[in-house]
Amino acid sequence: MQLLMMGPPGAGKGTQAAKLVKKFSIPQISTGDMFRAAVKEGTELGKAAKACMDAGKLVPDEVTIGIVRERLAKDDCKNGFILDGFPRTVEQADALKKILAELGMKLTQVLNIHVPAEDLIERAVGRRICKNCGATYHVKFHPTKVAGTCDDCGGELYQRGDDNEATMKKRLSVYEASTRPLIDYYKGAGIYTEIDGRQAIDKVTEDLVSVLSSVKD
Ligand code: ADP
Ligand code: AMP
Repeated sequence: MQLLMMGPPGAGKGTQAAKLVKKFSIPQISTGDMFRAAVKEGTELGKAAKACMDAGKLVPDEVTIGIVRERLAKDDCKNGFILDGFPRTVEQADALKKILAELGMKLTQVLNIHVPAEDLIERAVGRRICKNCGATYHVKFHPTKVAGTCDDCGGELYQRGDDNEATMKKRLSVYEASTRPLIDYYKGAGIYTEIDGRQAIDKVTEDLVSVLSSVKD
C-alpha cells in the first residue's frame, strides 16, 4: 500500500502514521523527521533545512524532492510506505508522481486528516516527543503516565523549537498558501478520503483502517 497522509501541521499525521506502520508493516516517511535528524547530525542538509524550519517556512522543493527520491528507492519501500508531510507543494506532488512512475508504483490512497485551524495551535504547542524513540504525546490530549517520560521506552520528552505559537501561525499560513491546494490536486484522482481528525486518536485510527480495508492495493 502506497499511502499519503495529508493534513495541516498538528492534525495528527505522525501519530496516525505510527499506528499504521505497526498495523501494515510498511515504513513511515516523514520529511519533517528526516530534516530534524539531519539538523541533529549537523549535515549539510541539516544546515540548509534549519533556518527554514525555525522560521516556519518550507525547505526548498529541490532539496525536499531529492531526499524523498532517495528514500523511496530503498528496498523497504517495495511493499509500500506512508508518506507523512510530503508533498507540501504542487511542484512536490508533480515530482512524486514522476518518482513513483519511475519506480513502477502509484499512490493507493490519499488520507486527509481534517482538523479546524482553531485547534491546531493548541495541538502543536502541547506536543511532546520522545528523544529516544520519537513517540509523540500531548500534555493535555495524550499525556504520558509519568510527566516528561516516554511510556514506551522511558526516554526523555522534548518540545520542538518550531512548536510555539508564533512559528505555528506562520506554518499555518504556509499550509493555506502552498499545501491546501493539494486537496483539489488529489480529489480528482479518485483516491482521496477525508477523515475527521477532531475525534479521539483511536477513533481516527479506526476510521483510517476502515477506509483502507475497502481499498484495492
Ligand atoms: P502532525 O504530524 O500532523 O503535525 P502529530 O501527529 O504530531 O501531528 O500531532 C500533533 C499533536 O496533537 C501531538 O501532540 C499529538 O499527541 C496530538 N494529537 C494527535 N491526534 C490527536 C487527536 N485525535 N486528538 C487530540 N490530540 C491529538
Ligand atoms: P513537520 O515535522 O511535518 O511539521 O515539518 C517540520 C518542518 O520541516 C516544516 O515546517 C518545514 O520547514 C520542513 N518540512 C517538512 N516537510 C517538508 C516538505 N515536504 N517540504 C518543505 N519543507 C518541509
